[in-house]
Amino acid sequence: MTNLNQPFLTSRFIINYIRLRDNYNRFYPFVNVFLYLYQNFTAVERKCLDCGEVIRGRSDKKFCSDQCRNNYNNRINRESNNYVRNVHGLLRKNRRILCDLYNEGKKVLHKDALFALGYNFNFFTHMIKTREGLSYHYCFEYGYREKDDDYIELTYNSHYLDYL
Ligand SMILES: [Zn+2]
Repeated sequence: MTNLNQPFLTSRFIINYIRLRDNYNRFYPFVNVFLYLYQNFTAVERKCLDCGEVIRGRSDKKFCSDQCRNNYNNRINRESNNYVRNVHGLLRKNRRILCDLYNEGKKVLHKDALFALGYNFNFFTHMIKTREGLSYHYCFEYGYREKDDDYIELTYNSHYLDYL
């Protein structure tokens, strides 16, 4: 049995093949130029993340030496440690201000009084919402609630850790 479609398929295959081959020949020089530019471009762009020297060798290398890798990682760790230390310092200062005021018996005061003492309202450790629907911001065990007219009410709660 002869397949009537066979001659058609064969001729289309040949036409496609010729088209592909012609296009390949047409673009082949450009492919080489592109590859040449790409390789040079990436070679220029690849620099050590620590010292900035151009890296030779494997294309996935990020550092020119183990020492540069260590320098870089140590610097990143130092920067993130500084960040944690700075935020912790802000929280401790906030806590100290709330603690002093609370222990002096000043439980309701104007927000400006806290500002004047250097309190930073952007930093707190957690929030607690009471059953009555009141929201408290805490710096560790000392907290405050915003009342009307920019007045705040201080509070103390060391029991919260029991519920963690
Ligand atoms: Zn380097």
